[in-house]
Amino acid sequence: MIYHDIVIVGAGLAGMRAAVSTPAHLNVAVLSKVHPVRSHSVAAQGGINAAIGEHDSWEAHAFDTTKGGVFLGDQDAIIAMCREAPDDILALERMGVIFSRDEHGRIAQRPFGGAGFPRTCYAADRTGHAILHAMYEQLLKRAVTVYEEWYVTALIVEDGVCRGVIAWDILHGGLHAIAAKAVILATGGSSRVFLTSTNAVINTGDGMALAYRAGVALKDMEFVQFHPSTLKHTGILITEGARGEGGYLLNTLGERFMKRYAPEQMELATRSTVSLAIAREIAEGRGVDGCVLLDLRHLGRARILERLPQIRQLAIDFAGVDPIESPIPVRPGAHYQMGGVSTNLWTETEIPGLFAAGECACVSIHGANRLGGNSLLETVVFGRRAGQRAAEYAEAVTFRQPSQALLRDEQQRIDQLMKRTYGEHVWKIRDELGAMMNQHLGIFRSRESLQAAQAQLQRLKHRATRLVLQDKGRIFNTNLIQALELEFLLDVAETIIAGALAREESRGAHYREDFPKRDDERWLRHTLAIRTESGPLLRYAPVTITKFPPT
Ligand SMILES: Cc1cc2nc3c(=O)[nH]c(=O)nc-3n(C[C@H](O)[C@H](O)[C@H](O)COP(=O)(O)OP(=O)(O)OC[C@H]3O[C@@H](n4cnc5c(N)ncnc54)[C@H](O)[C@@H]3O)c2cc1C
Repeated sequence: MIYHDIVIVGAGLAGMRAAVSTPAHLNVAVLSKVHPVRSHSVAAQGGINAAIGEHDSWEAHAFDTTKGGVFLGDQDAIIAMCREAPDDILALERMGVIFSRDEHGRIAQRPFGGAGFPRTCYAADRTGHAILHAMYEQLLKRAVTVYEEWYVTALIVEDGVCRGVIAWDILHGGLHAIAAKAVILATGGSSRVFLTSTNAVINTGDGMALAYRAGVALKDMEFVQFHPSTLKHTGILITEGARGEGGYLLNTLGERFMKRYAPEQMELATRSTVSLAIAREIAEGRGVDGCVLLDLRHLGRARILERLPQIRQLAIDFAGVDPIESPIPVRPGAHYQMGGVSTNLWTETEIPGLFAAGECACVSIHGANRLGGNSLLETVVFGRRAGQRAAEYAEAVTFRQPSQALLRDEQQRIDQLMKRTYGEHVWKIRDELGAMMNQHLGIFRSRESLQAAQAQLQRLKHRATRLVLQDKGRIFNTNLIQALELEFLLDVAETIIAGALAREESRGAHYREDFPKRDDERWLRHTLAIRTESGPLLRYAPVTITKFPPT
C-alpha cells in the first residue's frame, strides 16, 4: 500500500497552497485528476481581495463580506480571513506572482461588486493564471509528490478516523489504496451540475460527494451563485472586472436598467442583485435575444487592451463581437457553490484526519452570496491554514494501516460498470440532469419547480444505477471517469434541491418567488445535509454573529 503523511486531493490554488505550507520533513502528496495548472483556478479573471489600500481596513472588508452574504456567513471565519488577507497577498507576491501595478508601483486594486473600496488586486484579467503558475513553481521547489491524472473514488474512514483514499490511475488504469495520517480535500466547485456554467467541465463536486458519502454534513448547498455576465451561447465568464473598470449594462431600450434596482451601486451591486435584475429584464421582454448588453466602448481601446485583454479575445472568439466596437451579449450563468463540506475555522471536518479547503469547503465565509475576489482569497488563506493544521495533526498521531476492505468494494463497483453491456449512457443522464437544474434551480425558484426537480432527480438516480460504458479499456478511460463523476453530481444536486425546497425565504442567491422576503426569524441559520439511505436529512445550525448585527 502506498503511504504518505498527508494526502491532498486537488491541485488548484487551495490544494497547492496547502502543500506548500507543510514542513519539508513531512511526506506530502497531491493527487489531481488533471495536470495541476489545468485546475479551474487558472481561469479566474478579475482578482483577489485584500485590504492593503492606505484608507482601507480589514474591518471594512469583513463588513462588506458579511453584508454581501446577507449575514449568513460566520463572522469569526470572515474576520480571520479578512485580517490575514494582506499578509497572504504579500506572501504571494514574494512567491513571484506578477500583480498589475498602479502609477506609484504599488499593487494595483480595482473596484468590485458589493465592496465599499477598490480592494481587488489583479494581474490584468488573468489573475488565477498568474497565481496558479507561481504556486506550481513553489510546489516543485518543495518537492511534493504529485499524482497527476489520478482520480479519487472514495475516502478510507475506519473507526471514525480518516486513514487515506482510494484512487484510480487514469493514465495506466488500476485502483490503489493510498494510506495517510491526514487527508485534505481541495477539489473545487460543483457548478457543472448545471448545463450552462462558467466552470471547467471537471468541476463536478467530487470532494463534496466524497465527504458526504463518508458521513460529513454538507452546509448551505442551496446557495449557488449565478454570475451576472456570462457569454451568450457558451456561458464563458466575462469578469466582473469589466464592470469594475466602468462597463455599463444596457437593455433593448438602451437604458442602464441597474438604476431601477440599485441606484447607488448600479452595475457594482452584489452579484445576486445584478443577476436578478438581468433575469427580470429578460423575463419582462427588455432583453436582447435572451441576453442584455455589456457596453465597454466608452472605456476606449487602450484601457480595454491593457486591463481586459483576455475577455476581449474571448468575446471575439466565442461571440464574434469585439468589445472595442460593440457591446457584448451577456446573461447570468451558474458560477460558484457557496456551500460545501462543513468545516471549522481551521478547515477540520467532523471526521478526525479529514480536512477541506477552497471552493469544496464551507468554512462559511460567503454566506448567501459571495463577493467577487473573495474566493481566490479563501483558497490561499484557508489552503494555508489546512496545510498548517493537517501537518500539526499528522505529527501528533501514530499511523495505523487501513484494511483492504474498501479497496475491494471500490474494485467491485468499477468491475460492475465495466462489465455491463446494456444500459444508460453517462452523457445522456448528465445532460438531462444539467438541463433539469437549469430549468428548476436557476435564479427564480418556487415550491412547484423544486418539487418537480426532486421527482426528476429520483428518476435520474434510478436510471444511473444502470450505467453502461462504451469504453471498456483501462488506459485513459474518460468514459469511466465521467460515470464516477455523474454519481457525485447526482449527490450534490440532491442536496442543493433539498436545501432550496426547505428554505422558505429569499436571501442572496436563493430567490423563492413564493417567499420573496428574507426571514431572519426562521431562516438566519445554516442548512446541514446529512446522507441517509432515503436521501438527505436536513439539520440546522446557528450562524456565528460577533461584530456585525444583522440589519
Ligand atoms: C471562470 C471563472 C473565473 C473566476 N474568477 C474569479 C476571480 O476573479 N476571483 C475570485 O476570487 N474567484 C474567481 N472564481 C472562483 C475561483 O476561481 C474558484 O472558486 C477557486 O479557484 C477554486 O479553487 P480550488 O483550489 O478550491 O479548486 P480548483 O482550482 O477547481 O481545483 C480543484 C482540483 O481538484 C482536483 N480534483 C477534483 N476532483 C478530484 C478527484 N475526484 N480526484 C482527484 N482530483 C480531483 C482537480 O483536478 C483540481 O486540481 C472564478 C471561477 C471561474 C469558474
